[in-house]
Amino acid sequence: MKILIKNGHLVDPSQKIDDICDILIEDDKIKEIQLQGARGKGQGAKNKKEHETAGFDEVIDAAGMLVLPGLVDMHVHLREPGFEYKETIKTGTYAAVRGGITSVCCMPNTNPVNDTPGITEFIIKKAAQEGSCSVFPIGSITKRQRGEELAELAMMFDAGCVAFSDDGKPVMESLVMRRALEYSRIRKALIISHAEDMSLSSGGVMNEGLLSVTLGLRGIPSQAEEVMIARDIALAELTGGRLHIAHVSTKGSVELIRLAKKRGIADITAETCPHYFSITEDAVEGYNTNAKVNPPLRRKEDLEAIKAGLNDNTIDVIATDHAPHHRDEKLGEFDLAPSGISGFETSIGLSMKLVDTGVLTLNQLIEKMALNPSKIVGIMKGTLKQGGRCGYSNFGHSQ
Ligand SMILES: [Zn+2]
Repeated sequence: MKILIKNGHLVDPSQKIDDICDILIEDDKIKEIQLQGARGKGQGAKNKKEHETAGFDEVIDAAGMLVLPGLVDMHVHLREPGFEYKETIKTGTYAAVRGGITSVCCMPNTNPVNDTPGITEFIIKKAAQEGSCSVFPIGSITKRQRGEELAELAMMFDAGCVAFSDDGKPVMESLVMRRALEYSRIRKALIISHAEDMSLSSGGVMNEGLLSVTLGLRGIPSQAEEVMIARDIALAELTGGRLHIAHVSTKGSVELIRLAKKRGIADITAETCPHYFSITEDAVEGYNTNAKVNPPLRRKEDLEAIKAGLNDNTIDVIATDHAPHHRDEKLGEFDLAPSGISGFETSIGLSMKLVDTGVLTLNQLIEKMALNPSKIVGIMKGTLKQGGRCGYSNFGHSQ
């Protein structure tokens, strides 16, 4: 099978390419990339070899379009096993590829929780059978995500988990988090922190401030996130473990991570999600349950701080935290509705606004949506290098 994608604007930070080019694909592999950057500049035009469109099974004219490496979303919830009425591996990965995402890392808060190699293997197998993109499971840090006892991290890592997180919940016990980070150092596995001090956030359903008071809803202060990020940075420093901070939502969090990186604390990375740089807590007005997310939507100044954090690389990754629910669940009253928003199909569109408004260059954006997450979780994705696979595959880490 030979495919030619011609005249597209390829942006591939892994090869530092930002140019018009032709891409030849043979048997699902990138065979050749022919740059046309010198087109119209005399010498280049002379040397440029026109590809015969004959001999290809398919020719795609991508003139005026962007050609990007498949995006890598390192924070998603596929809801299977256990919550198939919300989403399945099949429907979730289908939505992902509609949004240009060809690799996803799925969080373990399924039922049962992905805390044993058996569940990890189930997800990998199911994704291979029914998925539309590559699926890399994230195992839970603690058994049943209870925050008490470490799960079988080594066995899950060997079964194909690319990282560990109790996402949806924090690991409240500092000693348990310390042990997880110590483990991560031995196996070079990534620990992803859902930063939330539950004693501060307890009962809260939106950002704490004037609006929460006006709406009569209990608020979650920014500090619920920041206290936990400060703790986890301290524990990463103590252990030398690999720490990644999920869904950064506040100005204070950006400042803490910026300072930690400046101090050179080993292996700290961070992500944010499109909803934290696109909309504010104002979206909650009218008790809009679709705007109920955890951490909650924040204020304008937080949104601006997150953009600044993306710009100066304090925040390495844009991930969706795609977390769909059944329509009926979101139709309930605000206090009781579950937290979460779908993100696969809107992520690239919302993120492109960062380029339009000069927050990021196109190259930086693709770094944060493809290359950086691949590097952080240790998968060979996010690139269109020669010899790389164009199809999708489901295998364990480091492939
Ligand atoms: Zn989370």
